[in-house]
Amino acid sequence: MRRITVLGATGSIGESTLDVVRRHPDRYAIHALTAHRQVDKLAAQCIEFRPARTVVADAGAAAELRGKLAAAGIATDVLHGEAALEAVATDAEADTVMAAIVGAAGLRPTLAAARAGKRVLLANKEALVMSGAIFMDAVREHGATLLPIDSEHNAIFQCLPNDDPRYGAGVSRVVLTASGGPFRTRDPATLHDITPDQACAHPNWVMGRKISVDSATMMNKGLEVIEAHWLFAAPADRIEVLIHPQSIVHSMVAYADGSVLAQLGNPDMRTPIAYGLAWPERVDAGVSALDLALAGTLTFETPDLTRFPCLALAFDALRAGGIAPAVLNAANEVAVERFLQGAIRFTDIAGIVARVLERSPAQPADSLDTVLEADRHARQLATALVSGGAGRPAASQGLPQGAHIPG
Ligand code: NDP
Repeated sequence: MRRITVLGATGSIGESTLDVVRRHPDRYAIHALTAHRQVDKLAAQCIEFRPARTVVADAGAAAELRGKLAAAGIATDVLHGEAALEAVATDAEADTVMAAIVGAAGLRPTLAAARAGKRVLLANKEALVMSGAIFMDAVREHGATLLPIDSEHNAIFQCLPNDDPRYGAGVSRVVLTASGGPFRTRDPATLHDITPDQACAHPNWVMGRKISVDSATMMNKGLEVIEAHWLFAAPADRIEVLIHPQSIVHSMVAYADGSVLAQLGNPDMRTPIAYGLAWPERVDAGVSALDLALAGTLTFETPDLTRFPCLALAFDALRAGGIAPAVLNAANEVAVERFLQGAIRFTDIAGIVARVLERSPAQPADSLDTVLEADRHARQLATALVSGGAGRPAASQGLPQGAHIPG
């Protein structure tokens, strides 16, 4: 029986994880569930899954949750705060941690799980983008098992050799597919008018709001390029992005002999989640069978970097190395949050990220403190740019300085 802690249980990935767990009570049990502020949803999850421990953001949310659980006769221990997230991510009673907190907030508990030698199911790509080598060293040094949950990386993991799922002899390229999001064909001159709800209406996937905006700007794919670099030890110039609007081919690995292995399936995150939970076995995920005749045509195209400057910025940050990916991520988190709040335009996001990168001196990412300081500083810069209106009049922002075609 696998005992699982779900960090970010109330989110899109968290709920999909619990759906897979629910189907296999003989294989999986929940040790701990965490959320930030959605107390009602978390209470319902605790009532169903009876975790030993649960974590929320602060004392107020904890008191509210305790009241709800007491009324339902549930004996779950309710904790709060960042240290409590690390505590449940490292509890000896759990062997598996689903890292599904959104953004940089997930870094410490996810890294703690790796340092505790857990099976880490990594959805929280921002944690790896920020800490790169530090995170991968922790996985190696502490004997953790790192399984990618992002559908693209899960696909690549499935297409690489079982005994060594890394870029190496015989592999010539890893190819990340991307849907291109809701604005793939929209006239770029109209992108500045986009509302948060339009940006969150992804054509193929139902996801949290932050990653939905990242998909619309293709920053999500940029973060995934950096994630692929670390997960599979793939050099930047061996990572290719291909737009595939149908989201059926989840990614591919090209080999030296001309073979290309791909993983296909309906776009449903329960497939990679079930793979991560059951690996190296496979279990029913509740996902409908892929009907390729129904899917009909599968198409592929090269991304247009003038339409998607965030993708170019991410390649630049990966090549720059050091703290640059953490800076990119932090600036993007601030910009996306402010866009969702209606404070800036959709087209301002790339400009803010570009300016924060320009203003952040290169530095090696040699410790967690350095990374967290880079994150803090980049957030300050991005916030100042938003407040100062530096990102505002960006109706036709075009490609930021320094952006270039990857590959
Ligand atoms: P959601 O926004 O749906 O959920 C985020 C979860 O994190 C919620 O449980 C939320 O709690 C919690 N949370 C938010 N802020 C904090 C914080 N400061 N401290 C602690 N917990 C916090 O996100 P998704 O499920 O969409 O995404 C989660 C991660 O998985 C992201 O990194 C994303 O990039 C990645 N991912 C998601 C995919 C998807 O299909 N959704 C696909 C591939 C990767 P509360 O609900 O209480 O606010």
